Amino acid sequence: MKSLYLKDEKLSYQADRPLPVRKEGEALVRVRLASICGTDLEMVRGYYPFDGVPGHEFVGEVVEADDKSWLGQRVAGEINLSCGRCEACRSGRPTHCERRTVLGILNKDGVFAEYVTLPIENLHRVPDSVPDEKAVFTELLAAALEIPQEVHIHPTDRVLLIGAGRFGQLIAQVLQLSGADLHVVARHEKQQALLRKRGIRIIDGDAVEANRWDVVVDATGSISGFGLARQAIRPRGTLVMKSTYKGDMQVNFSSLVVDEIHIVGSRCGPFAPALRLMEAGIVDPLGMIDAEYPLEEGLAAFEKAAERGVLKVLLRP
Ligand SMILES: [Zn+2]
Ligand SMILES: [Zn+2]
Repeated sequence: MKSLYLKDEKLSYQADRPLPVRKEGEALVRVRLASICGTDLEMVRGYYPFDGVPGHEFVGEVVEADDKSWLGQRVAGEINLSCGRCEACRSGRPTHCERRTVLGILNKDGVFAEYVTLPIENLHRVPDSVPDEKAVFTELLAAALEIPQEVHIHPTDRVLLIGAGRFGQLIAQVLQLSGADLHVVARHEKQQALLRKRGIRIIDGDAVEANRWDVVVDATGSISGFGLARQAIRPRGTLVMKSTYKGDMQVNFSSLVVDEIHIVGSRCGPFAPALRLMEAGIVDPLGMIDAEYPLEEGLAAFEKAAERGVLKVLLRP
């Protein structure tokens, strides 16, 4: 099958990789459309050690499964493959499984290929009214929904989101649903235009009032983003860290103690509500698509995705 392949931080296109072998309880899924994420770019830059087929954002179609009712179904797939037996799994925290593998990220071949295998329990049927171009955003939207899953955002809260790139755009749409007084720090013209179109307010980083915001979400994964978030949060406010940070960061923890700041790390989220929100047209990711490439031109697609200000680049096997 056609596939992208990552080895020693070097990405290549391979025309004849073997099909992935389906294990018991798994489905073989034909990838219809996939999307390049910031994590994929970081793997190529060497921030995440991974050898194999990268890619974890996708929509596909089941072509083999023991339960025939899945055949031909269009699906989105959760990316954490859990063991079902460890303490985390048995306590209802499968995304924190101690023995997990992660699709296209950790010991499991991903979706920048014609076919991929996933456990049936990871699959979610995509409603007919949600086209592939939206369904491919399910994983990312689910991760954005992990914020209200973890933090109670009151409609009366002042909420600040820092970062309006690939992920920030969807986080902004999710935070807007709370009815809170939301402002977003967005650097690029295009990011700002997309937010304005949805009635979301933009604020300049320099205009952010210090110690005033009830909830601050940092989606930048940068030291400067965290610095602004720290400045903005009010005493006893909640600071949500929604992006991983490269390397180590120096933080003044004493001031966090004195101000009694709640810090919440946030990663993967629930798929079913993500699909519901797109089915109802309440969240719409289409404006984020900048380009689509055939899988054969995957290397060019990665270059495009790495350009400044580019939001989403799709890959079609
Ligand atoms: Zn991702
Ligand atoms: Zn487990």
